[in-house]
Amino acid sequence: MRYIFITGGVVSSLGKGIVAASLAKLLQARGFRVTLQKFDPYLNVDPGTLNPYEHGEVFVTYDGAETDMDLGHYERFLGIQTTRHHNVTTGKIYQAIIERERAGEYLGKTVQVIPHVTDEIKRRFTLLAQQEPYDLVITELGGTVGDIESLPYIEAARQLHYELGPLRVLFLHLTLIVYLEATRELKTKPTQHSVRELQRAGVQPDVLICRTPKPLPKEMRAKIALLTNVPRNAVIQAVDVPTIYEVPFQLRKEKLDEVILRRFRLPTRAEPDLSRWRAFVEGLKKAQRLVRIALVGKYVELHDAYKSIHEALTHASGWQSTKVEVLWVHSAELTPKNVELKLKGAHGILVAPGFGERGILGKILAIRHARLRHIPFFGICLGMQMAVVEFAQNVLGWGSAHSTEIYPDTPYPVIDLMPEQRQLSAKGGTMRLGSYPCEIKEGTLAWRLYQKPVIHERHRHRYELNNAYRSAMESAGLIVSGRYPEKDLAEIVELPNHPFFIGVQFHPEFQSQVENPHPLFTGFLEAAVRYAGA
Ligand code: GLN
Repeated sequence: MRYIFITGGVVSSLGKGIVAASLAKLLQARGFRVTLQKFDPYLNVDPGTLNPYEHGEVFVTYDGAETDMDLGHYERFLGIQTTRHHNVTTGKIYQAIIERERAGEYLGKTVQVIPHVTDEIKRRFTLLAQQEPYDLVITELGGTVGDIESLPYIEAARQLHYELGPLRVLFLHLTLIVYLEATRELKTKPTQHSVRELQRAGVQPDVLICRTPKPLPKEMRAKIALLTNVPRNAVIQAVDVPTIYEVPFQLRKEKLDEVILRRFRLPTRAEPDLSRWRAFVEGLKKAQRLVRIALVGKYVELHDAYKSIHEALTHASGWQSTKVEVLWVHSAELTPKNVELKLKGAHGILVAPGFGERGILGKILAIRHARLRHIPFFGICLGMQMAVVEFAQNVLGWGSAHSTEIYPDTPYPVIDLMPEQRQLSAKGGTMRLGSYPCEIKEGTLAWRLYQKPVIHERHRHRYELNNAYRSAMESAGLIVSGRYPEKDLAEIVELPNHPFFIGVQFHPEFQSQVENPHPLFTGFLEAAVRYAGA
């Protein structure tokens, strides 16, 4: 078992998650058993309670954990399933320690950051490796080197390196080379400083990955190597690329995988097999046909809030060699007057998940537009719920029908709180979360897309279609094509007399992978292509 720690320096948002996933992909493609985990230095127990503006998307694992977005990259790149153990926060670490302290397990000792917090971090660093026989565990440390809250993680990783030795623990540091437009120069000083910061904490990076807008001249690499104590061949450049899916090739060209395997004395003979990955990237690059997908949501200013949806569209687009242009439509800006104009040119309309009242009317208007104009429609979670509301209001004629999340006293609560949700007051981790089976009705659109009788999809919601209204809906033409058999919950709705109109209570975007695109996204894109050509 070997451990790779990935730290970040200079600034955040350098793409540590993508670098980690790309490296893991290269090692996996050489036949190694690899997994990835993320450690986040904030005090929330998980990101489930965080506003998307703060944190971007919350990624849900099949076992029902609300986790960091980077786990989405890990799953999409490697085709693996992560679990609640793949994302640890400082909140989780402290929660475990405080519970132990209250139980009297520290036997009268003073509980301290060193050794108690660092020991708990080390226990978590090595936990996955105890559950499954991995060859390599890659751990991404969130935050930036030099942050106060990152210190215990760096110290714990330093200790693990001391205990297991350099043949089993390696440090990779991702840093930024700054380009000064005024003098047209690349600058290495911030990188030197961030490596110094790591060294001050007792960690010598083994590999440096330098994010740079322009290729690094040879002398500059030599200089960085000399000043940071990193071997020259381990100073690796990562020049900005048009798509994140090219990063594995870029790192392969720089021989990152070989540098790491040599350091660990692992065999480097077999070339990584990236043929399927390459076919996907070629499809993306060669795409000529263009479709425009309107993504209607209330967090559209921050594209990261819809990361998995965006990537799922990209996966479908690469395999169909279709270029997807996303029109980011702010639901709060849609009005009955402008909806036509704002959605003009869209070949497909996707209404996004969400919580709360803001922008709800806009979502309903967008759905109505898609239904009446026969534009392909795909509603996810709240998007599905609002498709039910729109249908009740405008087809069944129940103008005041709504979800009780938005309108608690509606006379037609077509979407309502699930019974098991009624008693709950705690917010963290209490939704219907994780993977559930769904039975698909034969002969429906869902059946045609999935081509199987039972599927498993991941959930994150408190409300659901109210079964009291189901038969009225179905008689008027909105059919339930997928249900959770155990509780008879409606999970998929669709309109048969429409070219493509489907709403799903679950989040299919979490299961789309580069090498395995999701059938709903694929079908939606195909319908958009047909609409564009018609
Ligand atoms: N707010 C809705 C619910 O809780 C939908 C949630 C979502 O879109 N993820 O049921």
